[in-house]
Amino acid sequence: MADALFPSRSVIRKLHSIAACLPCTLLLTGVDVTTVDANDPAVPGPEAVCPACLGASTLPDDVLREAGESVRASGFTGADFSLSIRLPISLQARQRAIMLWLHSENSDYALQEISTKYLLRARLARAIGEVCQMAAKSDVEADLSVTLAVEHPESADEYQFLSAITPAPPGRSYKGRGDMLSRRCDNTHNVLAFLNKASPQDLRSHNFFPPPAPTTRATLSSVTVARKSRFIAGRYTKYSRNVSNSPFIINNVKVAPTSVAEQIGLPLQEAYQATDYKFVGSGREDVDVRMLGTGRPFYIELVNPRRAHLTPEELDNVRQTAINSFAPVQAVGILREIKAHLTAGIKEGEENKTKEYACLVWLKDPIAADEAAAKVRPYQEGFTVQQKCPVRVMNRRALLTRPKQIHTLDVKILEPHFALVTLSTEAGTYIKEFVHSDCGRSSPSLAEILGTSADLLELDVVNVDLEWPPAVES
Ligand SMILES: [Zn+2]
Repeated sequence: MADALFPSRSVIRKLHSIAACLPCTLLLTGVDVTTVDANDPAVPGPEAVCPACLGASTLPDDVLREAGESVRASGFTGADFSLSIRLPISLQARQRAIMLWLHSENSDYALQEISTKYLLRARLARAIGEVCQMAAKSDVEADLSVTLAVEHPESADEYQFLSAITPAPPGRSYKGRGDMLSRRCDNTHNVLAFLNKASPQDLRSHNFFPPPAPTTRATLSSVTVARKSRFIAGRYTKYSRNVSNSPFIINNVKVAPTSVAEQIGLPLQEAYQATDYKFVGSGREDVDVRMLGTGRPFYIELVNPRRAHLTPEELDNVRQTAINSFAPVQAVGILREIKAHLTAGIKEGEENKTKEYACLVWLKDPIAADEAAAKVRPYQEGFTVQQKCPVRVMNRRALLTRPKQIHTLDVKILEPHFALVTLSTEAGTYIKEFVHSDCGRSSPSLAEILGTSADLLELDVVNVDLEWPPAVES
């Protein structure tokens, strides 16, 4: 654009008259921001604080380095970071008002997006990168995110007059006065829309055409550093009938001393110095059900970890010395850091995979081994059980009848009233209900097949069929 390449002298003169800084002068006249180097000692910085950027574009190097020092002091280390900066609404309002003012004085002047944020971000990213020896990257690529805000209390409320001089709120249609009030000057979008609607006379009468010279310089807020979550995948076994899956809390009081989630999550949280953790299992077992065999797949999400990685040896050390110090819950096999997208695989295990169970069952009428074998034979190669929503979870689930596949069924009579029942089923089958029939809500049930009342005394999950943890991507 010719205008951008040859900014009007009169526009530059006007910007000089309000003591706009050099970066703002270049930006407001449409010069490519990447050509601006406010750091260049040959660039004279005006003594007055720039009314367009409130001094944000020309923050001194030592202020930028201080931000870098704060990042370093946060304790987060890594190879790269992304940087996001929030500008005050007043700064954006001022820049728009100055553009409107330039346009009103010179109709050739075109309103443009000006990029104080990108200019400041480029300088800050360089300073932080130098102090912390990290590379600045995009949000998607970077592991650490650094956030800070430009603050300028002096101008914090100066644009509030706009809501009084503009008859209707801008933007989408509004309903009722309450909504209208909520659409007042509390976000940049509204403020800029108000400004576009205001007349030059209105803005001038409120001393905002152009905005007044500030007396104080913008500062940077304290730095916030965060790291993307880490995901640790593994399998666990549970040898107790008194340990719940997640913390057992009634009326805000922790009832049980520990849970599978805590027993695995807390040592990993500590090792990674994370602020929180989330435990996700491939399904779950009830508190009185043991989890045996190769264990149930799980992953732990570690939120905002200060440590970026543990080596496989360090992870195994946490597993053996911290997690497995509590005999009833064991992390079996290896723990592995996995990429976020691979965590979806755990749902596959919950919804699609086969589970194997072993149950100790009490039978009301004694049954001989050969009689039991004859009754079970038609079912042992698999069948479908129709399960209505169990009575015990009725208030939590939809009242549907679900067909579930039982792949194998085997009954061994231990003593006349006791049987060991092993079965493999489709994920989501209610085992307790299959055994005792849940007042006929599960059919056929084991009680029905054996022709006597049956009750489940003990239940163990012996296998969850899922390849987990997922292999490391090459
Ligand atoms: Zn400026």
